[in-house]
Amino acid sequence: MTAHDVDLFVIGGGSGGVRAARIAAGHGARVMMAEEYRVGGTCVIRGCVPKKLMVYAAHVRDEIADAAGYGWSVPPASFDWPTLIANKDREIARLEAAYTANATQAGARVVKSRAVFEDAHTLRLLAHGETVRAAHVLIATGAAPNHGPAIPGIEHVISSNEAFHLPELPRRIVIQGGGYIAVEFAGIFAGLGSEVTLVYRGDNILRGFDDDVRAHLRREMEMHGIAIRTGLTVNAVEKHGELFTSHLSDGSSLVTEQVMFAIGRHPNVANLGLEKAGVAVHGDFGGIVVDAFSRSSAPHIYAVGDVTNRVNLTPVAIREAHAFADSVFGGKPTRVDHDDIATAVFSQPEVGTCGLTEARARAKFARVDIYRSEFRPLKATLSGRDTRVLMKLVVDAESDRVLGCHIVGDDAGEIIQAVAIAIKMKATKADFDATMALHPSTAEELVTMRAPVARHVRDAAE
Ligand code: FAD
Ligand code: NDP
Repeated sequence: MTAHDVDLFVIGGGSGGVRAARIAAGHGARVMMAEEYRVGGTCVIRGCVPKKLMVYAAHVRDEIADAAGYGWSVPPASFDWPTLIANKDREIARLEAAYTANATQAGARVVKSRAVFEDAHTLRLLAHGETVRAAHVLIATGAAPNHGPAIPGIEHVISSNEAFHLPELPRRIVIQGGGYIAVEFAGIFAGLGSEVTLVYRGDNILRGFDDDVRAHLRREMEMHGIAIRTGLTVNAVEKHGELFTSHLSDGSSLVTEQVMFAIGRHPNVANLGLEKAGVAVHGDFGGIVVDAFSRSSAPHIYAVGDVTNRVNLTPVAIREAHAFADSVFGGKPTRVDHDDIATAVFSQPEVGTCGLTEARARAKFARVDIYRSEFRPLKATLSGRDTRVLMKLVVDAESDRVLGCHIVGDDAGEIIQAVAIAIKMKATKADFDATMALHPSTAEELVTMRAPVARHVRDAAE
């Protein structure tokens, strides 16, 4: 018996935790991983995967509507929410089992329990009271939805967690928030047939994204029938039988079957016993403080993924976890590069983006060229759908390097993943131009935009 029961104790069996447990065990470490809810974590159980399945379901409505222009007559379609939810849940259960098997087959022991620190090297498993001594600990506890201020009736408000398991599709829904989740669920519910009102406190949705993307997507969402009300908050929610009245900050109100808030998420650090372990958290947003190797203020304790509040995306949590396991157990110190991470918003239509927005590029570079193209996609010609695609490149006019790419349109997520390779390789606009177009496609526009629509030269005084 060594002084420690395990070489690595992983708290949380989500995207980061499972990857770290698997890779560390593969390097020969004795690993235990505790998960208090379901293995797979947010992404698999109530995030990316079920969300994307519901996005696909919502898309079917458009496909049916588009069919007539292509000569198909489709009998009146109906949608059954319980069928979608049951099928989605079956796939999630399959993935949960696969994630558990991946970890155990690699040699990690998986325990279904909440784990908290007793001291810097001792974890207590609350399900059985057992304690485990660990040489190293990885905190991969993820994040949870914010409730926002304690407004009257907040107990009636659902988050994305509950949205995946509603007993029925709401006929009407208010969604508060203007970020990824609010925008994606607005598209899901609208696509499935709900009447959706998005309430956002700022002047336009998706703050932090390129301004052209924000304006373009808003127009497209409104054309899809989503009401977007900006400059407002939900100040109270009243329940009347099965219905809810949301009282907005301008004095108006909305009656709906559901009210959902998607107003950000906070790192899961509460009641973990971090103070007993000497693990520091950021005062302002509560994420665990880590260095470039994901090491916390306690030298044998590391943290990855959403609990560190760096870039809260699944591939980032996975990459950080892999780098941690290679650094600590594989003898290969590895830092994660958080620059130029491609991301998609699975709205309708999708957003795909990588690199700098026009505003950030203009703040950072002296001369910035903007290439932009807005056009009707070929598919919409016969379907008659009123939709337009936006493609935008942000280029450093001095080095010719492509600093950012922003797309709104079908398959934007798929396209931007490939463009991200070029951006990561520091491709120039000349490299894009030298690439032969693939015709007919939407993405060909990225290599055929010849002249900038704007050149911004920073004032010497700026
Ligand atoms: P998680 O996956 O959240 O895992 C943390 C795990 O720790 C959880 O299973 C939790 O139960 C467990 N846990 C917490 N505390 C304890 C404890 N004390 N003891 C034991 N277990 C504990 N990202 C994308 O890249 N693409 C997307 O399309 C996307 N869509 C999303 C949609 C939604 C609705 C949401 C909410 C998120 C989405 N994300 C998406 C973000 C993505 O899900 C997260 O970035 C990712 O899951 C973070 O992984 P993680 O390992 O840090 O945490
Ligand atoms: P976001 O941070 O993306 O957006 C939060 C939104 O809520 C913002 O519009 C914010 O407004 C608003 N908000 C914050 N506080 C309040 C408040 N008190 N009252 C009213 N509005 C408020 O968070 P999400 O919850 O949408 O998603 C969490 C994270 O999960 C994302 O940031 C992303 O990292 C990840 N995710 C990724 C997805 C993907 O990759 N496709 C999909 C879903 C989630 P303001 O802009 O004014 O601050």
